[in-house]
Amino acid sequence: MQEREENRQKEQREPLQQGSLQQARALLREVFGHDDFRPLQADIVQALLAGRDVLALMPTGGGKSLCYQLPAMVRPGCGIVVSPLIALMEDQVLALREAGVRAAFLNSTLSWEEVREVQDALRRGALDLLYMAPERLLQERTLDLLQSADIALFAIDEAHCVSQWGHDFRPEYRQLGMLAEQFPGVPRIALTATADERTRRDIVHQLHLQEAETFIASFDRPNIHYTIAGEGGGKTALLRFIEQMRGQGSGIVYCLSRRQVEETAEWLRGKGIDALAYHAGLPAHERAARQHRFTHGDGVVMVATIAFGLGIDKPDVRFVAHLSLPRSIESYYQETGRAGRDGGPAKAWMTYSMRDVVLHRRFIDESEADEDYKRIQRAKLDALVALAETTQCRRQALLAYFGEELAEPCGNCDNCNHPPEAEDMTVAAQKALSCVYRTGARFGAAHLVDVLLGNDTEKVRRFGHDRVSTFGIGEELNAAGWRQLYRQLVIHGALSVDDEAYGALRLTEKAWRIMRGEEAFLMRRLPRPARRRRAAEREAALPAGVDEALFMRLKEWRLAEARERGIPPYIIFHDSVLMDIAALTPRTRQSLATIDGIGEKKLELYGDAVLDLVREHLRQADASGTV
Ligand code: ADP
Ligand code: ZN
Repeated sequence: MQEREENRQKEQREPLQQGSLQQARALLREVFGHDDFRPLQADIVQALLAGRDVLALMPTGGGKSLCYQLPAMVRPGCGIVVSPLIALMEDQVLALREAGVRAAFLNSTLSWEEVREVQDALRRGALDLLYMAPERLLQERTLDLLQSADIALFAIDEAHCVSQWGHDFRPEYRQLGMLAEQFPGVPRIALTATADERTRRDIVHQLHLQEAETFIASFDRPNIHYTIAGEGGGKTALLRFIEQMRGQGSGIVYCLSRRQVEETAEWLRGKGIDALAYHAGLPAHERAARQHRFTHGDGVVMVATIAFGLGIDKPDVRFVAHLSLPRSIESYYQETGRAGRDGGPAKAWMTYSMRDVVLHRRFIDESEADEDYKRIQRAKLDALVALAETTQCRRQALLAYFGEELAEPCGNCDNCNHPPEAEDMTVAAQKALSCVYRTGARFGAAHLVDVLLGNDTEKVRRFGHDRVSTFGIGEELNAAGWRQLYRQLVIHGALSVDDEAYGALRLTEKAWRIMRGEEAFLMRRLPRPARRRRAAEREAALPAGVDEALFMRLKEWRLAEARERGIPPYIIFHDSVLMDIAALTPRTRQSLATIDGIGEKKLELYGDAVLDLVREHLRQADASGTV
């Protein structure tokens, strides 16, 4: 113990630093098969190698894991990784072992003998990485075990769980602060993809990271294409989107309620989509089986409540669709962030209904929280609505929300690809709102539209509404147009829906500002979609230069191999690796080894099979004259 601490004296370590970063770089190549560090990875690795504490904020898929895995492998002793979920740690350990790293986990799924083996390996110094949940780490016997071993570092993954302001608060995370006192001199790194300032301060405070170096990566996820199809698209729009993505891989569809999950999954299955439902109401074994099919399959669509995803480390999710509006941009970004973690092209797509907005607002209003908190929640919801209804580049708007500036429109979102127009609807909105006022704010949209259009209905006559000043003044829109305008007025908070009074529309402060002409009302109007577009979108599935037939063959091979070994396909190779192979068509081991993501162990395990497959493919293509 004494000796170890002395070893960690900074003065002694600094001169070693240069060498150890080179060592980490060599491991990056040999073990993980990557040519170079991603932004910030080298800096973070270096800080940990030098024995300093680190707070790392990086987006999902940014490459957080290597930031602690490499230093844990270079530094003497074992790196302890605190991870909130069993599924997540098992996946990581599987992937590490596959790459030849000495990794293990400690959790309740292990038998007593297995636990003993892991403990012995740790004491013997035969482990580079050991994963466990915070509860496990905090047990006295675990702490004793760690005290008796050589510890390289502590990595606290998903560190936002420490904060009540975050979305996945886990009280045990708070106690992890004691690692600073119990293991002085052992560097600690906290990692999260949640940027929010308040959460960040909480992490530093709770985990005693005041001395830590902070690294913040750009939150941009350039490989994700964003589309917000807008309000009112519903299941049909979803189906059209999923059909466009067919053959490209798996996806997640998020719904607000269990019922919506069940209904949507069943409806999609009826349309020939391989869809599964997932929510907390299902028995545990059923959830596990469905999750297994999703991670091990290729092309399963998981329809789920947000309960699904936190534990899913599947890097090749090709799309995330929302069938209803999340409650904030943070949630939206976290959920869509589960797409394309492997860096390959992926899509985020959303449609929603006015009902979602109404339900979220009511949920906030009726919650027990104090007024301050409610105000924050309302502002968060409004920010998401603004994002959904903006005519600007989505990525610029998203990043701006997280305090980042993107100089140019991204060219990879719906608004960049097909710029909508912002139509000034102030006059129509004034008519619609005064119609609410003139009729006593007691009616729903259907009747109000009748009044505006001057329809002679029984209800209009019964209430004498053919005599109000707004009767028949709405010639500029048809019934569907007025209904849409009313929904937009609700979404933008100019009207509220009173469900106690059969959905009567009520005027808000904002409504008065619009009626008084103090505020304009703009609406997003899409250009009519051209027919040609859909075909073009479908073609863009694979990057140029990729031999599609070979790619499909490689995927088949990978799926068969994965089935046989009982591991998820992406543990063998990511899609991007298969794409590179299908583009490069390597004929030798040397050439195969140049591909990003193929390290020595993978080369040994799969090199021959892949080369055979490529040769076979080229021979056949040659024979049939297609190459
Ligand atoms: P995070 O934990 O931040 O969500 P991961 O650590 O799971 O992200 O990494 C995401 C993906 O990026 C993985 O597929 C990983 O193999 C890949 N990756 C990480 N670092 C590099 C690198 N330096 N070069 C190429 N790919 C990398
Ligand atoms: Zn854009």
